[in-house]
Amino acid sequence: MATELGPRAMFVAGGTDLYPKLKRRQFEIDTLIGLDFLTHGIRNGSTECTVDAGVTLSEAAHHAHLRHGFAGYAQAAGLVSSPPLRNAGTIGGNLCVDTRCNYYDMTYEWRKAAGFCLKKDGDICLVAPSSPRCWAVSSSDTAPAAISLDGAVTLVGLDGERDVPVAALYRDDGIDYMAKKPSEVVTGLRLKATPGTRSAYIKLRRRGSIDFPIAGAAVALVLDGDVVAGCRIVLSAVASHPLEAEAAEAFLIGKRPDAEVIREAAELAAKPAKPLDNADLSHFWRKRMVRVVVEQALERAATEMPG
Ligand SMILES: Cc1cc2nc3c(=O)[nH]c(=O)nc-3n(C[C@H](O)[C@H](O)[C@H](O)COP(=O)(O)OP(=O)(O)OC[C@H]3O[C@@H](n4cnc5c(N)ncnc54)[C@H](O)[C@@H]3O)c2cc1C
Ligand code: SF4
Repeated sequence: MATELGPRAMFVAGGTDLYPKLKRRQFEIDTLIGLDFLTHGIRNGSTECTVDAGVTLSEAAHHAHLRHGFAGYAQAAGLVSSPPLRNAGTIGGNLCVDTRCNYYDMTYEWRKAAGFCLKKDGDICLVAPSSPRCWAVSSSDTAPAAISLDGAVTLVGLDGERDVPVAALYRDDGIDYMAKKPSEVVTGLRLKATPGTRSAYIKLRRRGSIDFPIAGAAVALVLDGDVVAGCRIVLSAVASHPLEAEAAEAFLIGKRPDAEVIREAAELAAKPAKPLDNADLSHFWRKRMVRVVVEQALERAATEMPG
């Protein structure tokens, strides 16, 4: 159906992001394809864990094996929106959730009064009018955590099934933000962790009870004795895709993650983050806070019990 109907149809899982957007006419479609048929389990291995796309965020957040071996992912799932939305929202939907912008996540009437924008119905970007592209912000909490834990998704479409690293699932484009075909369904997520991995996710938002992230850091550390042997740091809500802080990762390898080293790594990690004036609170302050969330995530991961 998705292939046949093209842009006239969309998949719906929990509907927690899609339904409000349909009401605001951010998507205008005539067919919803329900994904209730997706399986709904979490399977443990010693170094990996497979989470079906239909698993709810609440289930993922409370799952004992995820909380122990893949703590950063469980923490991220437990920090999405609010408890009722986590009971309905799925991990597949969270990986595919639309990018956000203050000029786009508004009612139809508001957007009409503002003259619309590139992402829907308009022809300029209201945040950066001279820019040819949309800078809407990747706001999934679990995508950065899945990348930090070497996650890969299974995609199923008319051409069959394929596995894609979560890191390769996104494009740096606020409109065309997913690298999968629109007709492909995410059916599952496989997280990998070298034994001894310690992971954490720290999220900043205005209201801890419900809001999307305005900065977030997912960290996975592997320690050899007391020095870092492996490290992934992935930022949320600072670009149109989850942003990996590669310079900070390279800096940490071979070092003992003490307070001084963590502070320097956090400075490096914040450098590539370039928040724009299209999300909650001031973008200057958000930029400064990226360093803080990375520092807190590194501290938390370094002191976690290894998975
Ligand atoms: C008030 C409020 C606060 C929120 N706060 C947060 C937050 O803090 N962090 C956050 O990350 N999200 C937040 N969300 C968004 C949303 O609740 C979550 O992202 C949720 O995980 C989406 O999952 P869902 O199953 O409801 O997806 P849906 O709404 O059903 O779908 C979302 C998108 O993914 C596509 N899709 C869904 N499942 C699949 C699949 N298996 N394969 C292919 N495409 C698929 C849909 O077509 C749609 O484009 C918030 C939403 C609201 C309304
Ligand atoms: S970044 Fe620009 S084009 Fe994209 S949603 Fe915002 S205003 Fe629209």
